[in-house]
Amino acid sequence: MLISLIIFLISLYLFGGGTHKRKRNMSNIDNILAFNQQFVASKGYEKHITDKYPDKKLAILSCMDTRLSVLLPEALGLKNGDAKIIKNAGAVVISPWDSAMRSLIVAVYELGVKEIMVVAHTTCGACHMSFSHFREEMLERGIPEGELSRTDVDLHAWLEGFHDTEESVRKTVATIVNHPLIPKDIDVRGFIIDSVTGALTEIK
Ligand code: ZN
Repeated sequence: MLISLIIFLISLYLFGGGTHKRKRNMSNIDNILAFNQQFVASKGYEKHITDKYPDKKLAILSCMDTRLSVLLPEALGLKNGDAKIIKNAGAVVISPWDSAMRSLIVAVYELGVKEIMVVAHTTCGACHMSFSHFREEMLERGIPEGELSRTDVDLHAWLEGFHDTEESVRKTVATIVNHPLIPKDIDVRGFIIDSVTGALTEIK
């Protein structure tokens, strides 16, 4: 009861009245919340019920591109529960100790994954991105100049695109294969999926 009251008061502080640091724009999220109530009430989840272990002992590192949201699992014939799917901008491991690599390690040791697919895609937005493109908009949107010339992180390197998709896939596959915590019995293969047709091309 007390906890509920505290949560309510915190919510009131964060979302109700007073000054907001950030402009609230939640129309889509509000619609999603309404849909979600109906989904649960009508037991729309029943056909998806599975457990946390991937049935195909497979992990996929792919891109967050919305063209792949449904296309990727459908084109690969995957249903709910078949594979661990890790997504980021570009389907990349940018360092051996980044979040994508950490998730793959968890997939192997905690979830029984034996095979890993790196699946980049055609016309990926992360291919040509660069910090210099973002810089101007960041300033316009109120990010202080000092944050853009930080010395504790190389923002140019951190936000740089990969330019060559095949090379990027090879590099990410190599980082996974050669990772000191990835055992030698894990099969790691790289692919580019066509963002329209879903056709997979293996990159060797
Ligand atoms: Zn992409």
